[in-house]
Amino acid sequence: METRLLKGKPVRDAVFAELKQKVDAAPRPPGLAVVLVGDDAASAVYVKHKEKGCDEVGFHHVTHRLPATTKQEELLDLIARLNADAAIDGILVQLPLPKSLDEEQVLLAVDPAKDVDGFHPENLGRLMAGNPRFVPCTPKGILRLLTEYDVPVSGRNVAIVGRSVIVGRPLAMLLALKTDPGNATVTLCHSGTRDLPAVTSAADIVVAAMGAPRFLGPDHLGEGAVVVDVGINRIDDPTHPKGTRLVGDVDAAAVKGRVSALTPVPGGIGPMTIAMLLENTWEAMCTREGDGA
Ligand code: NDP
Repeated sequence: METRLLKGKPVRDAVFAELKQKVDAAPRPPGLAVVLVGDDAASAVYVKHKEKGCDEVGFHHVTHRLPATTKQEELLDLIARLNADAAIDGILVQLPLPKSLDEEQVLLAVDPAKDVDGFHPENLGRLMAGNPRFVPCTPKGILRLLTEYDVPVSGRNVAIVGRSVIVGRPLAMLLALKTDPGNATVTLCHSGTRDLPAVTSAADIVVAAMGAPRFLGPDHLGEGAVVVDVGINRIDDPTHPKGTRLVGDVDAAAVKGRVSALTPVPGGIGPMTIAMLLENTWEAMCTREGDGA
């Protein structure tokens, strides 16, 4: 069987082009504030990608880089200032925060109308209630990618492996809503799932969001399944000039020819996540300006 590669980059490019056109015609650019605390290497790379994305579409953006020793009150003060800043439509606190900080309290402090990551309990609650405002960017990007590649979701069995609040749980909720896209039958798997291969190999669509390099192989995936690989894992690779490379949670080489479609890593869900972040920020501005996006 030929395995179709569901590349995120072309879809990202199309979303960017549309946003750029809208920004060029808008009275002011949308503004995104990114808060990065500490020196987590992966977080620094993600923030760079976000800044680059903002530049490409013409958004106003500021990044606040704070030391790992930052106190909770200092961080809350900064968020309060960003909440009140008229030029800022979206606020993103890069996770994970250093262990000394109370992540829940920080996320609660972000104005829900500027919470373009969709992690504020109010926005997560609205998603649960079936009336989403800001949908977390990775789940939103997964749905957009499947739509763009005409992968039907309604009525399909979807197995999601990983129940984090940023990927697995909101995705399960989105897919289960009686909406288009949506209306799927969802199984949410995790480390307590008994006989994971039996569950995932029975699914039409499998989403891997575990953070376990190349974990899912042919035994986990039914013939003809559509596979969305969210994982981004850096592994040692002496043959690579940098000595490391990125792989997903799926053993792509081993499942090619067995599954009908697969998102690549890198170049699959990563670019979609950034595209959806910028789309959410655009929507935040439109709502704040009263254009009712
Ligand atoms: P978390 O570590 O928060 O969650 C991992 C989840 O996977 C947990 O629910 C865990 O189960 C489950 N899990 C881990 N190992 C197994 C296993 N062997 N069997 C079954 N379930 C397992 O991860 P995130 O959701 O934050 O991230 C997941 C991956 O996605 C990472 O590689 C991350 O880098 C990547 N990512 C990529 C993004 C993108 O834009 N492409 C965006 C966000 C994340 P349990 O709950 O029982 O511990």
